[in-house]
Amino acid sequence: NTVGDEPRVILVTGASSGIGEATARRLAGDGHHVVLAARRTDRLDVIVEEIRKAGHSAEARALDVVNRAAFQALVDDVVATRGRLDVLVGNAGVMLLSRLDALLVEEWDRMVDVNVRGLYNGIAAVLPHFRAQGAGHVVTMASIGAHEVVPTSAVYSATKYAAWALTEGLRTESDPTIRVTTISPGVTESELADHITDAHAADAMVDYRKAAIPADAVARAVSFAISQPSDVDVNEIIVRPAAQR
Ligand code: NDP
Repeated sequence: NTVGDEPRVILVTGASSGIGEATARRLAGDGHHVVLAARRTDRLDVIVEEIRKAGHSAEARALDVVNRAAFQALVDDVVATRGRLDVLVGNAGVMLLSRLDALLVEEWDRMVDVNVRGLYNGIAAVLPHFRAQGAGHVVTMASIGAHEVVPTSAVYSATKYAAWALTEGLRTESDPTIRVTTISPGVTESELADHITDAHAADAMVDYRKAAIPADAVARAVSFAISQPSDVDVNEIIVRPAAQR
């Protein structure tokens, strides 16, 4: 078995803020080479510069996870330039909460596009390389919303149940060389709720966010999952604020 803390090449989607940013910083600090992907490359450039100044290894790449061809091209290019890709952290996501009867159907489409299509686009892009390498690990950022549905979370939760199902499906279909982890965070400090347009849902988030834990609390869970020896597969971790009910 390979030693769990060997340096890897890791792609983190949605690395420009919140949990993805914290995960990229922590995994680079662990000694891995981290490819930070998102649409806001100005943010990525600043983060990568800080990671490099701290003596660690990282690069920034523009990516809209909804664009399947772009996702494939990015993954192929990472493999061509770094020789391999060991871990995909499928973290990019949006949470546009609202009640179904508010009928914000375009926001439903957006959540499905980013949280579901964006995740399986990544799985499709990395799987051929994982098989060729004889190793690979997909870490999916799901949510407490993958375990429960509350008013305003129906579509968001549907996308996170889907994320859980995709990751579990990959596990059941794969040989032991491919490992999978679903991380389900509770309320965590990030920009996620800033994009909610529905006033009722946005108001409800104000109190909810008071209990938020730092994004690095989730990043530590990712670090733990990927640092196991190759015969150990950590399949699911729930990390929530102790104060969250
Ligand atoms: P943020 O809004 O801070 O981060 C979301 C990230 O996703 C950003 O880096 C954003 O980058 C990226 N993103 C959004 N759309 C796209 C896209 N089309 N293509 C590429 N990247 C995209 O929120 P969080 O850090 O909280 O969210 C990260 C993940 O954690 C999400 O999947 C979320 O559902 C999940 N989560 C968060 C919880 C929380 O309480 N914060 C709780 C449970 C789960 P850019 O805009 O630059 O493209």
